[in-house]
Order: sequence, then C-alpha cells, then structure tokens
Amino acid sequence: MRTEPKQRSRSGRHPARAAGTALALALMTTVTAGCSTDAQAQHAVIATYHHVSESTPRSTSLTPDQLRTQLEYLRDNDFAVWPLDRVLAALQNQEDMPERVAALTFDDAYESIYTTGLPMLQEFGFPMTLFVSTQPIDDNQDGYLNWDQIRDMADAGVIIANHMVNHPHMIDALPDESNAERLQRLRDELLHAQQRIQDETGQNHKILAYPYGEFDNDISEMVADEGFIALAQNSGAVGYHSDFTALPRFPLAGFYADIETASTKLQALAFEIKVQEPRSPITDSRRPAVTLQLAGDFNVSQLGCYAGGEPLELEWIDRDAVHFSIQPAAGRTFDARRFGYICTAPKRGTNRYYWYNKFWTRPTPTNAD
Ligand SMILES: [Zn+2]
Repeated sequence: MRTEPKQRSRSGRHPARAAGTALALALMTTVTAGCSTDAQAQHAVIATYHHVSESTPRSTSLTPDQLRTQLEYLRDNDFAVWPLDRVLAALQNQEDMPERVAALTFDDAYESIYTTGLPMLQEFGFPMTLFVSTQPIDDNQDGYLNWDQIRDMADAGVIIANHMVNHPHMIDALPDESNAERLQRLRDELLHAQQRIQDETGQNHKILAYPYGEFDNDISEMVADEGFIALAQNSGAVGYHSDFTALPRFPLAGFYADIETASTKLQALAFEIKVQEPRSPITDSRRPAVTLQLAGDFNVSQLGCYAGGEPLELEWIDRDAVHFSIQPAAGRTFDARRFGYICTAPKRGTNRYYWYNKFWTRPTPTNAD
C-alpha cells in the first residue's frame, strides 16, 4: 500500500530527500536556535500496521524483529504511547500533551496481529487499536481472527474499531448506482459494521479507518454526520488543527519498516494546513496540482516538497505566508491508483520534521486496485 516513494534516509537528515543544503541548514539552526517556541506540544503520530509476520505479503507486513525494534525505539525515546481514543480526545480538546505521543493501529484483523503483535505490545505495556472489517470475521475467512480472539483482545484493553463490512473501495459506485445510493449503501455498511463490533465486543468507539485509505468529500461528510472520526492512510502527523474526517497515519511496514525510516516518521510533527485546494483526493489527472498554505515553527527556506522522491518546484503565491502550489513537471506522471506528494520542513532548533502528504486517488475503471 505505497502512497509515497521509498525513502532511504538517516534520522536527522531530510526525510524525503537527503538534500545537502537542507541538512546544513538544519544543523545550523540546531546550533543557533535555543529551545522550542511552542508553549505546548500539540502533535501525535498514528502508526499503521497489518501483518506482523515473515510469510505474509511484504508490502503490508513487518517482521516481528522490525516491530520489536520500533517498540524499543518508542520506549527508549520518551514516547507516550496512548490508546487511540485518548490521542484523538486530547487533540480535539487541545489539551497540553507530551512532546512525543504515538498511537499504534492494526488494520484488517489478520491472525498475526493476535498471535505476534498483541503479545509483543503487551510486553512493552503499549495499547493498540484493531480496525476490523466484519464480514471476513463473520465468514470465518482463512487468515483472519475469529470473534473469540477479537473479544480476547477487547478484554485485554484493545480498542476494536470500524473498517467497514466488506473492506470496500468506498469511492467506487456500483454499476448504475447513483451517488445518493452509493452514500446510503456506505452509511448502511458503516453502521452495520459498528453494530457487529458492538454486539460481539460491547465497544462503540465511532472511529473508522477508510479501507485502502480511500475517501472523497461526500464520504467524509457522511461519516462526520454519523458522529465518527475517520482515519486515512496518507502519511503525516496529527495535530490540533487536523481534519478529523481524514486523519493521516504513517504505514510503517514493507519499505517503511526499518527503524531509520520509521524513526523519522515517529518523530514527525503536523503542519497547520491553512489552505488545501482541492481538499478531495479524487483526481483524473496523472499529475494534479494542489495549492497549500502551511504553518508551523519552521524556516520557509527549508520547506521541500517531493513526488516520487523527486523535488517539486514550489510556485509561490505568497512566500511570507507560505502559500504556494505544486505540480509535477509535464513529463512526470503517476499511473498508480493511489499516489501522493510529500512536503517536509524541520522544526526550528530540532531535527524533527513537519510532514504533510497530499494523497491522490485516480479511480478510473481501468485503474482498479
Ligand atoms: Zn484494510
């Protein structure tokens, strides 16, 4: 489930591209700037996992050793690993938070989450959330947990949350289905999954993870209308000002599992996004443009945006206001169903990076997943 280019960077270097000048500037500010200007921390990171195994598809798996290394990193670097509902409430209520907060989430209720992931997290005393698509569980599908195991997890304090019934591509209409009919179908499915989870575990958290991270503006409105917070799968940290109908999460498996890459993301900060136009991820372009206005405690000369690992030119609308557009050059196009652009900037006086990912989905009929 790649929504960003493979990155090979060392902690402290520019995460999206180890640019020499950016590194030099980052080091300079580390030396010259004193302490943070933020009165209080207002960020967290939500990590996404699927399988914890050496024998499942690599792109959605990390090995038990890789997970252990990430958990050790969290333990050894003063992270407060909180249950997801506590993280979401703290952000929404704009509570004072520790400098480093993380929540760990697992999607799809695969067997290895229960057999390998849960015991390892328990060893570290870290809470977790499980996003369940209910139909594979109701069908006793191979490779998935059963309700007894999921109840076991719930009894151990795991948050059991919504991942729809059938793991649908929510943005795709069925043949001859109107948009209103599609939204009604998705609303029914959302509520049915929620009911199944409540019936089986007694939990009713009203937190949805969009399958494949896919959503559109109509979907996020419907979800909010039902009182849900929704999480996507575009990379990025979450903050006070995040969009609680499409919160970013960092996938930390596959290419992104190794600790050099994962640690940069676990330390990431949320830009305040003042403008994001278009807001919707849906596009029919292979090189869509987006206009952004980003705020945070960073030096604008250190802001960099990237697509497929290549730097994008920032077209300034107002540089002082950090208001700009980005679009890949004419020869550079993206053919995947899902792709994204990343913008990062180091926080002044630190080696932590603000991180934003503009996530696109190009759901043409020939571009099914
Ligand atoms: Zn999923």
